[in-house]
Amino acid sequence: MVRFSSGPTPWSTLGPNSGCISELRRRSTAFGELQGQPISKIPTTRRCAPNSLRGIIEVKSSEPIPTMKCVSQTIRTTCTMDCPDSCALEVVVQAGRIERIQAAPEEASTHPNTQGFICDKVGKFARRVYHETRILYPQRRVGPKGEARFERISWDAAIAAIADSWRKTIAHSGAEAILPYHYDGSNGLLSHDFLDAYLFAKLGTSRLARTLCAAPAGAVAMGMYGKLPGVAFQDFPEAKAILVWGANPRYSNIHLVPYLRQARKNGAFVAMIDPIRNFSASEVDLHLQVYPGADLPVALALIRCWEEEGRLDQVFLSRHADGLERLLTEARSWPMERAAAEARVPATELEKLARIYAEASPALIRVGWGIERNRNGGQALAAVMAMPALLGKFGVRGGGATPFQTVARPSWTRQNCSAPIHPRLAGPLAS
Ligand code: SF4
Repeated sequence: MVRFSSGPTPWSTLGPNSGCISELRRRSTAFGELQGQPISKIPTTRRCAPNSLRGIIEVKSSEPIPTMKCVSQTIRTTCTMDCPDSCALEVVVQAGRIERIQAAPEEASTHPNTQGFICDKVGKFARRVYHETRILYPQRRVGPKGEARFERISWDAAIAAIADSWRKTIAHSGAEAILPYHYDGSNGLLSHDFLDAYLFAKLGTSRLARTLCAAPAGAVAMGMYGKLPGVAFQDFPEAKAILVWGANPRYSNIHLVPYLRQARKNGAFVAMIDPIRNFSASEVDLHLQVYPGADLPVALALIRCWEEEGRLDQVFLSRHADGLERLLTEARSWPMERAAAEARVPATELEKLARIYAEASPALIRVGWGIERNRNGGQALAAVMAMPALLGKFGVRGGGATPFQTVARPSWTRQNCSAPIHPRLAGPLAS
């Protein structure tokens, strides 16, 4: 028999899972040592202590406790984070609380990219959900700004206060005096450009162009290729050369990493073009550590080199490209040495990159958001995204470019939803 040495358990302090052995384990430090047995010997985490055990708890370490069962559920779902991997998840919920978040088992029927693992960020997401500092209720500021004094109010009171303020604004200045200032994130379909768009369209508020992030990249991708889907992860191992430019799959696209490894095993040349070294020298064939903001000169120098060497795919370009001469004119003023000096990298590395990418087929570029985070980001991205077209890299499995997938799916929010849309959203910003 084992017994809590600290005497009667303050049962009321236990959480909603009170009585489960798992709960007792977690709280063993707080309530003292279990006598005679390490607490880890208690048999199972799925049993609950019966009501009769309230007070001094006695459990036999080697025998099942007479129990009632805690309700434990495993829920299949999809990760809601703003991440290209879109993992299939299993969430183990016990007595209404998340016990564990893990990858859905690796089966043909589940998500092909999850491959039985998820990132740490989501694996530990329950900590965030239950963290004591998480704000769970509406708070109203009391006192001057900066003093950080708030009082809890009800949802009804919060909604009424906001609605009242909006009513006054609309009555005084019109609905366009309200500007919904928001961007994007891990929102899910219902709370991103759906119910929020509907609400503000109904009110007739002003609209934000939302150029906080991704606007240059989005404009370039749509302007150059329209709703072109990127290369599927599964096709990466087909490539003979892969340029990962301004992206860090190790942090924000981890399920691409096994495919990159497989591609290298198959003999592909993998280059990272990034001011930060996120992969070790043994993991990539070239790390071009460009100075931040120097992506444009690098891309133009490669283009100039290919034109000089007669490597441009004139047939493809004559059929599919507009504005070629303007791009080449810009590129002609960027010899390798000049671009290398600007990017603070050896010119020999640029030459190597130019040669290998040009000669490999299939070859692909995984473009990341890093390129656009500069004053000339849009132009840099356009030059990089032009590269597969210049060399005719499209049209083969494992070849082309992978920018960002969002534009490749149909728009849910406006064209495809049946909810009535305010006429003001029918303009160009709505598309
Ligand atoms: S890698 Fe992490 S954030 Fe991305 S989809 Fe998977 S679990 Fe979610």
